[in-house]
Amino acid sequence: MSDSEQKVVRSDAEWRTVLTAQQYHVLREKGTERPFTGVLTENRETGGYHCAGCGALLFASDAKFDSHCGWPSFTIPAGSRAVEEHEDMSFGMRRVEVTCARCGGHLGHVFPDGPHPTGLRYCINSASLTFSRANV
Ligand code: FE
Repeated sequence: MSDSEQKVVRSDAEWRTVLTAQQYHVLREKGTERPFTGVLTENRETGGYHCAGCGALLFASDAKFDSHCGWPSFTIPAGSRAVEEHEDMSFGMRRVEVTCARCGGHLGHVFPDGPHPTGLRYCINSASLTFSRANV
């Protein structure tokens, strides 16, 4: 197993110390930031989007598109094992939750209304991500 595939497991108390309150709410409590408030929603720079919890590369900038939905949106994850998808029946809706495969942190949801080539829109909380110009 390579380094990037090692699971990151922390106690709730540890997560509270390493994450900001907003990061903790999104990643560990499945919260959703208010639309159009995230610092990375309009980011157009070339680079990599990493998990704010564990640093794993989740999305590359070339997969980002302007969805006008108020959250960073991507057509495809950075590799087939970067994220995991789970049925989410909360709030009376059937949605597909997206989590970080490495630390289990909640990222957002994926919807079948994205552009070509995947037709998918990974709608991801800015607070769950960090951006790096290197490491695309
Ligand atoms: Fe993670």
